[in-house]
Parts: sequence; structure tokens; C-alpha cells
Amino acid sequence: MTEIESAPHIVRDVVCGFCGLGCDDLTIETDGSAVRARDTVCPEAARLFLRRADAREPQCSQYGEVTSEADAVAAARAILAAARAPLFAGLGVDIDGGRAVLELAARFGGVLDHAASEGLFRNYAAVQRTGWLATTLAEVRNRCDVLLVVGEDPTASFGRLFERLLPASPLFAGSRKVIFLGEAPGEKARAQLGGAETVHLPADDLVAALEAIVGLARGRTLPGGTVGGVAAADLAAAAAALTGAAYAVVTWNGATLADGALIAERATALVDALNLTTRAGVFPLGGRDNIIGVNQLLLWRLGYPLRTAIRGQVSEHDPALFSTEAALKDADVLVWVSAFRPEPPPDFAGKVIAFAHPETRFARPPEVFIPVGTPGIDHAGTVYRMDSIVSLPLGALRVATLPSVAEAVRLVAGDAP
Ligand code: SF4
Repeated sequence: MTEIESAPHIVRDVVCGFCGLGCDDLTIETDGSAVRARDTVCPEAARLFLRRADAREPQCSQYGEVTSEADAVAAARAILAAARAPLFAGLGVDIDGGRAVLELAARFGGVLDHAASEGLFRNYAAVQRTGWLATTLAEVRNRCDVLLVVGEDPTASFGRLFERLLPASPLFAGSRKVIFLGEAPGEKARAQLGGAETVHLPADDLVAALEAIVGLARGRTLPGGTVGGVAAADLAAAAAALTGAAYAVVTWNGATLADGALIAERATALVDALNLTTRAGVFPLGGRDNIIGVNQLLLWRLGYPLRTAIRGQVSEHDPALFSTEAALKDADVLVWVSAFRPEPPPDFAGKVIAFAHPETRFARPPEVFIPVGTPGIDHAGTVYRMDSIVSLPLGALRVATLPSVAEAVRLVAGDAP
């Protein structure tokens, strides 16, 4: 529960919706319209919670010229009414905003995709082929004794990951092990892993090295030498630690791995092999800007995930054809939605309607720009955590001067009261 003190305007136990970890213990200072995260070790939260009191909120614009909200709304509606193939992309939005965008897409037709969906679909490729046994943040926290991290140090993208996953606990005093296959853990990761033993296997071919560990876990032996840049003896030691674990977990960030689909498949195979004799699960990382929540929303409403097109009364899903990159080639209108951060839309020669963060810097002025408030700062909302099972309530930290995405989109749809 959020506790608000009257002075000096400190708000405790604030939920952060910027990445899929969903930390719910932030302390935020507010002073009128100014907002600042206090004492956080997470650079993402420090950067995205920051709102200066003197920051000027931009107004609606058309082609870079300031316009009234009513004119911007009318222009957006006219562009959509004339559109042949709209693309609704970015989709960095809370659940209510996502619902409004989905209704707009249902009315005008178009493709729906999230800016961060590449990693999600690399993982889906593995799930569709083999299925997987996925675990949750709480399970990792309470049970995992050996964690295999594949790829980059994930604290670069999820600043407090190890603090949340493996907090110091007397239950695991000195008995937790974290194996980094790929990049070495940085200073931040090491500081958060103070109580755990860390091992670094500097693989130059992650897929080959991980496949070797899968083989070892299935009882095979390696001929010696190196596999994927890692000494066979070190791979065997890693496999032994995983097979000897009470609860092993494999984690990776599909968004940062070019071979993410292959990594997801090998990680799943490893967990399958381990579950013959012990317990294990995968914990895929991801979920920035509520991608998990928006994906859930599409599943509830359409029966399909992101990368789905709505045409008339019919929905069609194609992970390749309806990715933002591919859909932009056919689209004539891009509806860009990005409320959590000032992320500009991709290059696009057609018309752009932007429901975007007020600090967004556009490469060229969009046909219509409607600045929107940030969920969890300007208005309340709901987001989903990366393990899909927990929805998190975001609160408002200041009096909003900008509409939420839901409010702005419903004005364009003509649904607003
Ligand atoms: S790790 Fe993610 S959820 Fe936690 S404070 Fe940082 S950005 Fe927010």
C-alpha cells in the first residue's frame, strides 16, 4: 500500500512500471509538479521518474505547430478515417490505455505491435516448438540455489535484478551459485550478489556452449578441449552444479541476443533434462513498458498475442508479417504510442499520429502529436510483471496536466464523455 506523508512530500512504497521487474519499494520525493526518485540504485528509475518543476509541458501540435487539443484530435481522426493500412506501434502503455488503443484499432483496422516485442517473439519461437517450464520471480527468490545466466549481464537492462531475484537470505547462506555464461557480471551485479558464489564462463558461442551443457546434463561426455570458447572441464563443472541443484533456474534476455530463439530452445531443453532428476525452470527476462500486460490484453480480447492485424471482424496473427519493421513497409499511417519514456517512432515516410511522452524528440515533426502523461507519475494504472502472473497497481504522484493515453485515444475515437 502506498503511504503519503504531508511533508516533506515523500511517497514510499511506490511501484515502478518502467521495466518488467515491477519493483514496489521506491521512495519518491514530490514538490508540486517536481518528482524525483530518492536513493535508488536503478539508473532507469532515477532517469524516468525525474520531472523537473520548471519543465514545460508541450502542447498538442500538427507538423510541429502548436494547436488546440480539439484540432489535434480532429486531425488524428481524419487521418485514421482515410487510412488504408494503419500500424499501431510502440504500445508503451498501461492496461487501460492499451484497451483504448485496441478499441481504436478495432474501429479503424490495423496492425498492433509493441516496440520491445522482438525478445518476446524469440522466446515464443521456442515455446511454440517445445513448450517450456517457466518459473516465477517468487519461486526464484524462495527456492533457486543455482542460477544460470546466459548472455549479457542483465543488470544493464534490469537494474535491480539480482537484488530482487536472489536477496541475501539466511536460508541460502553461502549455498547459492550463479553461473554467468557469456558476459562477466559487472560491479552492480556483483554488489547485489554479495552472498552468492559466482562463476564466469566467457563463451564466444553461447548456443554451442549451452548445447554442450544440455548434453552433459543428459549424461553425455565431452571429448575435451573447448566448446563455444569454454573449457570442457568448466562446462562439465557447470552441468554438475545444475544437476546437483535442488532448484536450478536458467535466465536470459531474448531482446539482447541475436540468437535468442536458439538460446530459448537450448535453455528449455536444459530445464527438461534437469527435471528428470530435480526441479528446474526457465525465467525469461523482458517486459519493459508493460509489453507483458499489453500482450495479455490482446490474448484476452483477440485470442492472439502482439503482432496481430484486425481487419473488419477478423483478427490475423503473423509474428513475421506483423512485426513493426515489416508492417511499416505496408502501412500508410503510424499511430505511435509511448507513454513510459521519450522513445521516438521509427523512420517512416507515411503519416504519424503520436500519443507520446512529453519529452519525445522526433526526427521530423509528426502530422499530429498529442503529449500524454506517464502511468505511475501523472495518473494511476496497471502494468504486468515479466513473469506474467502479477498485475501491479501504479499510483499518481502529482496532479496531471496531460491526458492519459486512454483519455487521449478515446477523444480521437469519439468515445470520451
Ligand atoms: S529494476 Fe525496473 S522496476 Fe525496478 S526500479 Fe529499476 S526500472 Fe523500475
